[in-house]
Amino acid sequence: MAKLYFKYGAMKSGKTTDIIKTYYNYQEKGLKIIIIKPSDDLKAGKNILCRSGASLCCDYVVPKEENIYNLIEKHLIDSQIDCILVDEAQFLTSKQVDELSDIVDNENIPVICYGLRADAFSCLFPGSTRLFEIADVIEELKAVCKCGNKATFNLRLKRVDGELVPVFSGEQVSIDGKDAEYDSVCRTCYKKIKKEKGIYKL
Ligand SMILES: [Zn+2]
Repeated sequence: MAKLYFKYGAMKSGKTTDIIKTYYNYQEKGLKIIIIKPSDDLKAGKNILCRSGASLCCDYVVPKEENIYNLIEKHLIDSQIDCILVDEAQFLTSKQVDELSDIVDNENIPVICYGLRADAFSCLFPGSTRLFEIADVIEELKAVCKCGNKATFNLRLKRVDGELVPVFSGEQVSIDGKDAEYDSVCRTCYKKIKKEKGIYKL
């Protein structure tokens, strides 16, 4: 039986590295794997970029209105799929996560979603919420805070006169898009940084 997986973690928890590794593991065995990404991810267009410089190209970039189940049904007419990887799954709609679960249940294709648990203000994303509700397997990818604790918070930063300043309000998806910077920190440090209101050093 195929399963719906959710591998979540804060920024810099190695999600992209894990996607790239999983992709090549399947490919080396001659299996057909496709990559999907929601179009809300403003970072890299069709590419998935890893901090080490490695990159992969997505097969489908899906807007919120797209029915992913129909998209995959169409794909299956011409070619087989052994596994589906979803990058930045936090940006999926709740309905799209349900569509992914239909692919798992009706087509017996495993779907592995990667994403953030919560946004820069520690609120769940819609895609992540639904994945926590219905995924078969939930796995945390761990990031480390500067203090050595596990990092679970995403600190949003903006550049002001060349210095990084933490941001504690705004849209869930930063309008700055590719210009916004983030660091992953533990909850204790997040609160401390919020109180201090100082300049942040990466
Ligand atoms: Zn910390």
